[in-house]
Amino acid sequence: MAAIRIAIVGLGKIARDQHIPAIAGTGDIELTAIASRNASIDGIAHFATLDALLAAKPDIDAVALCTPPQVRSAQAAAALKAGKHVLLEKPPGATVSELTPLIAAARQTGRTLFATWHSRFAPAVEPAKAFLANRRIKSVVVEWKEDVRIWHPGQAWIWEPGGLGVFDPGINALSILTRILPRPFFLTRAELSFPANRVAPIAADLSFSDETRLPIHAAFDWRQTGPQTWDIRVDSDAGLLTLSSGGSRLVCDGRTLLDEKQAEYPGIYRRFLELIANGVSDVDLSPLVHVADAFLLGRRRDVEPFVED
Ligand code: NAP
Repeated sequence: MAAIRIAIVGLGKIARDQHIPAIAGTGDIELTAIASRNASIDGIAHFATLDALLAAKPDIDAVALCTPPQVRSAQAAAALKAGKHVLLEKPPGATVSELTPLIAAARQTGRTLFATWHSRFAPAVEPAKAFLANRRIKSVVVEWKEDVRIWHPGQAWIWEPGGLGVFDPGINALSILTRILPRPFFLTRAELSFPANRVAPIAADLSFSDETRLPIHAAFDWRQTGPQTWDIRVDSDAGLLTLSSGGSRLVCDGRTLLDEKQAEYPGIYRRFLELIANGVSDVDLSPLVHVADAFLLGRRRDVEPFVED
């Protein structure tokens, strides 16, 4: 197969930290162009907008949309219309319904639409899923607590409508949970904490359940200082399984089953190539549906203003 020629749209943190190295390290895919309003890379064709790129580079096969969710659906629609395969950063959109026409467009044009969930590519996620497949699960506790000043400095879009606030990282936990639990689950209660000067939540406290009345509790918080916490604990008949460090460590009753630092994005690009080769899409909206439910059902609480110093 000839190498897939890909363009990155939006040259921000995730494009630079993860997409560029992952593309460089994956065979059969080549970074050919960039669409960025502000930045360029030596030796790579640069365009200020995706539309300019699509007009000038008809030989591009695929685009990776690394822009904020609020602008991605229009970009995905334009790229699919131009016959490109599309990789969407998470979350796949700013609304759930905007994905429906994109899924249809991918089907009509025979192109691949891949809604990535990078946390599902963390090394302990598939082993956790296998461990839990035939267990009786008694309870689940999620703690996803990080310091927004460290992880999202200057990201104005994240505090705007559609930016998701604390659900931007929290949806990563939900992407893992929807992958590893053997049954679908649903939201039963939510409390969302909004800083008085912001329109997006800085914290969320969520309860979920499933058809077996499994209690699932999730706490997302952006006000964490000191040690950061990205943990999921599942109590089962085989012991207490802890998936920590965002999915890189797996411990059962104090016994370490796996502890591996492994980049998630090479797996994403291998999967994208596989989907393209097989002529199929992969768009799982379940993590985004849970976030939408939290905004639907959530009780709003005003908390102290957030000022980024
Ligand atoms: P970021 O650093 O703010 O970068 C986003 C880039 O998108 C900007 O640098 C800008 O690129 C472009 N952009 C911003 N506003 C735009 C607008 N209104 N119209 C068009 N382009 C715009 O954000 P990020 O952290 O890379 O996050 C981007 C996406 O990746 C988010 O959905 C996020 O959830 C996801 N993600 C982030 C991380 C992370 O650790 N940061 C991890 C995994 C996934 P140009 O200046 O080049 O145009």
